[in-house]
Amino acid sequence: MDLFEYQGRDLFERHGLPVLGGGVAETPQEARAIAERLGGKVVVKAQVKVGGRGKAGGVKLADGADEAQARATDILGMDIKGHTVHKVMLAETADIQEEYYFSYLLDRANRTFLCIASVAGGMEIETVAEEQPDRVAKIAIDAVKGVDEAKAREIVTAAKFPAEVSEHVVDIAVKLWQAFVAEDATLVEVNPLAKVGDGRVLCLDAKITLDENASFRHPDHEALVDQSAVDPLEQAAKAKNLNYVKLDGEVGIIGNGAGLVMSTLDVVAYAGEKHGGVKPANFLDIGGGASAQVMANGLEIVLGDPAVKSVFVNVFGGITACDEVANGIVQALALLGERGESVSKPLVVRLDGNNAEAGRAILDGANNPLVERVDTMDGAAERAAELAAAGK
Ligand code: GDP
Ligand code: MN
Repeated sequence: MDLFEYQGRDLFERHGLPVLGGGVAETPQEARAIAERLGGKVVVKAQVKVGGRGKAGGVKLADGADEAQARATDILGMDIKGHTVHKVMLAETADIQEEYYFSYLLDRANRTFLCIASVAGGMEIETVAEEQPDRVAKIAIDAVKGVDEAKAREIVTAAKFPAEVSEHVVDIAVKLWQAFVAEDATLVEVNPLAKVGDGRVLCLDAKITLDENASFRHPDHEALVDQSAVDPLEQAAKAKNLNYVKLDGEVGIIGNGAGLVMSTLDVVAYAGEKHGGVKPANFLDIGGGASAQVMANGLEIVLGDPAVKSVFVNVFGGITACDEVANGIVQALALLGERGESVSKPLVVRLDGNNAEAGRAILDGANNPLVERVDTMDGAAERAAELAAAGK
């Protein structure tokens, strides 16, 4: 999960990192009130989860509450790289003398953590790395040893931070690592890390990604979720413990096993090309051992998507045999009926693998007019695409 800058600023503050006072506003009036509280000059910053806000005109200085309100009016509603600005952060200003770059991240390719530090901050680090590679230091961090004072000094030396800021940067490097570990982050990026007029070094921007796989040990992270960006179907699926991702097509997909579902998306997209370009509407892996209950939950989510015109249930019986899955489908449709969900969209079911024959017989026996059985994956994809095109 990516955080907004204001959430990152708060998180830094909680971990003792040097940040400037600030607050977040959704209206120009709120912005005004925060500017009054902060007093004097403030910076008004668009809160969108994308970089380059400065260049896009999303970061503006304001002298006093009137100007802060005016700048907030300009910035709220702006579009930055396809992201609409719904919030602005107001912060005390700094007399920036130098801008540096500092980050810790998970380096998947090298199976380690990595520190990237540069005295050429402020601009995008990718650009610096390309144009002035000798000004970007990359230091591997041992996951067990982490960053202590000695390691922090090694980083400061490698990145050639000026002597007058080295003690500040060492302190920040250690605390930032502690924050990175304590919050189970996969990225903490400070750009700019700024040297200001009075000699201090401050974190003036915060880009943080938290590892959602660790959310079970961070109940407080739930409050950081941007509810306005959550897809309601994905939210409902999450509440039911389903591996569901909303896509933008018309053919609902349910399968057992992530690999099978991924290839199902491909065959449906391919078949859809012949049928007016219909596409998969979602990814849904009900996993191995899927009960009637799980199948019912899955069908409920997929059928609840108004964009869905047909559903393709693609099951390869393994440990969970096809007859169990077939029973699951029949019971699921009955369950949905009992729940008062009127099922009216056609289902194409392909059963193969363990006990396929028994499963097919169960579906045939149930004789549900909405359920069609096709025994090959390509054939079923073709039929589901055709039905979706007809239902459009
Ligand atoms: P980004 O462009 O999305 O990375 O947004 P940043 O938060 O990094 O802001 C962009 C630039 O605005 C920074 O590199 C600074 O030069 C400038 N900036 C940000 N905060 C302040 C501030 O408090 N005072 C001043 N003078 N400039 C700031
Ligand atoms: Mn920045």
